[in-house]
Amino acid sequence: MAHKKIAMGHDKKIALVAHDNKKRDLIEWAKFNRVLLAHHKIYATGTTGEILEREFGFKINKLQSGPLGGDQQIGARIADSKIDFLIFFWDPLEPQPHDPDVKALLRMAVVWNIPIACNRSSADFMISSPLMDGDYDRLVPDYDVYRNRKITGDE
Ligand code: PGA
Repeated sequence: MAHKKIAMGHDKKIALVAHDNKKRDLIEWAKFNRVLLAHHKIYATGTTGEILEREFGFKINKLQSGPLGGDQQIGARIADSKIDFLIFFWDPLEPQPHDPDVKALLRMAVVWNIPIACNRSSADFMISSPLMDGDYDRLVPDYDVYRNRKITGDE
């Protein structure tokens, strides 16, 4: 399949999300990387965002709480190229009321080929990558092939 390029600028639009048992991990990670995160535009689901704002003192673009639609809001922004980076510490040991939304969010990240980190070590490697602070052209499959597919009976 052919690809299209989507430009990611120097300042990335980063979404931070953590399930309740993983919030401490994410806050510690974000505090440790405060300086590296400072020039990026940060989005977060409601509760994660509240805690981050309190701990950081800098502006977070807060969406709905995850179970109330926040994960879906982030997924929609990924599809619209308004979020281009996801740090999502989901909990592998607890079922969530919004498990379908979690799956959908991870799927959107793959469909649009954005970087995702689902645990602390991946997030460490990603945030310290030299690619973080430069321009980067993300390759996304050319979905026009899919959009223009032939539908049976639609002659
Ligand atoms: P929360 O949502 O930050 O509002 O707790 C996180 C999630 O469960 O997706």
